[in-house]
Amino acid sequence: MRVARTFGEARTTADGRVALIPTMGALHEGHLALVDTARAADPDTVMMSVFVNPIQFDDPADLERYPRDLERDTALAEAAGVGVLFAPSVEEMYPQEPVVRVSAGPLGEPMEGRRKGHFDGVATVVTKLFAGLQPSAAVFGRKDAQQVAVIRRLVVDLSFPVRVLPAPTLREPDGLALSSRNVFLDDREGALGLSRGLFAAADAIEGGLEDGSAAEAIVAEAVADAGAQLHYASLVDAATLEPVDRVRDGTVLAVAAQVGEVRLIDNVHIDGDGTVDRGRLLTRPSTLTGGG
Ligand code: AMP
Repeated sequence: MRVARTFGEARTTADGRVALIPTMGALHEGHLALVDTARAADPDTVMMSVFVNPIQFDDPADLERYPRDLERDTALAEAAGVGVLFAPSVEEMYPQEPVVRVSAGPLGEPMEGRRKGHFDGVATVVTKLFAGLQPSAAVFGRKDAQQVAVIRRLVVDLSFPVRVLPAPTLREPDGLALSSRNVFLDDREGALGLSRGLFAAADAIEGGLEDGSAAEAIVAEAVADAGAQLHYASLVDAATLEPVDRVRDGTVLAVAAQVGEVRLIDNVHIDGDGTVDRGRLLTRPSTLTGGG
């Protein structure tokens, strides 16, 4: 594996068609599983970027404490089969305070839109990665359903010739979705409210439940029972993120909740003739997120 610190190095190091996996580092098994999705696109080079993007954080304290360990990430990426690791400095990514930025428009407003400017920051950095690295495909985890919706529209609206490849959510054996922020969790029971609620709603949906509010209520109740503080439980269209009343293919049931100091998000996708994509469970607890 080669490590590139500048856009120029990354471009000259990569051969042929590139499948890009954008990350903020602090890698865990969920990130590493994205390498399999990238490989399935049959690229010449699997490239992973590691960059903690300051302009997508609305809370300076969150940016400050976001876990960073490039040495560890380099070893993990190499072992997972990444060909080129692109790890730019903030100065390489933003030689000047960016004046021209990309807006996620209305897709940036609902749900995680409460993090002010978050999706404009995401759309801007992903645009820079696409422009500067010229991948032919890029992988994004379904765990961040709103991000997938934003990026899908970004490639259409800005005419990037990039195939967007969504990847399933990887979970701990007990259901908790892997996240770099799980290292800060001190209330695992509270955290499990999200996946428990989603799985209960998924079971009900596969059993014939169609009412969106009823599905949302199942999630909200599980989160409350676990002692976490619900921010939202919403059934939305996966592409437009608009609320929907009835469960159907192409919808996503999304949840966000505060668990102690940590804000968690999770979701399930309804997309296979009424079956629900809950993601994939690890068979053994993650060794990379301090969980288990
Ligand atoms: P992050 O480093 O948190 O910005 O995430 C980088 C990429 O990994 C994004 O596309 C995320 O959606 C994806 N990702 C994060 N956690 C998971 C997970 N548990 N399962 C699958 N993909 C994930």
